[in-house]
Amino acid sequence: MMTREAETMLHLRKELTDFSKRAFYRDLVGGAGGNMSLRVPETENVLITASGVSLADAEPETHLLVHRDGAILENPSNLTPSKETGFHLAVYRLRPDVGGIAHVHPPYATAFSNRRKPLPLATISGRLLLKEVPVIESASPGSRELCEFVKGGVSGHPGVKALLMAEHGILALGPDIRAAYYIADLVENTAKVAFLAGNIRDDGGER
Ligand SMILES: [Zn+2]
Repeated sequence: MMTREAETMLHLRKELTDFSKRAFYRDLVGGAGGNMSLRVPETENVLITASGVSLADAEPETHLLVHRDGAILENPSNLTPSKETGFHLAVYRLRPDVGGIAHVHPPYATAFSNRRKPLPLATISGRLLLKEVPVIESASPGSRELCEFVKGGVSGHPGVKALLMAEHGILALGPDIRAAYYIADLVENTAKVAFLAGNIRDDGGER
């Protein structure tokens, strides 16, 4: 019989798999890009997707369990943790309220990120739920510099739910991975509406 702890871990591994696949098939990310993680409740451990494995191909056993200091605790498929593990762990340290993180590359939100301005909140639900989506500067994926930009964006905007990452994608934060996924989806939907609204003239024609 499985211990309660093992049952919880299996449930969380399945949940992370589910939202990884949903992000891919929802076109929030392509190729082997993007990474997602969740904080294991009542521990200092984080379950994170593997490097080099498309979110479409995620399986419960491809995720790695890491301690918040970076040590690998469980690695059933002998993979490498996401190269962005550094900024995931940094966000969990800065924000005790965050229990799930979705980092994806959705095209409309990413296109807006290149303006180096906050995302235009073109819908009432976007404004109410997101409040602000600030932008952070660009740096190479997996770099220490990018990790510093993420830390600056999160600590500079208390309670922020999403950041645009210039020339790269978005970071969505939630109390759990389900909430983080829905924030990522809302950010992209808001960016799409902002883009479409910006292309429609007052008389209804296309600009
Ligand atoms: Zn990325």
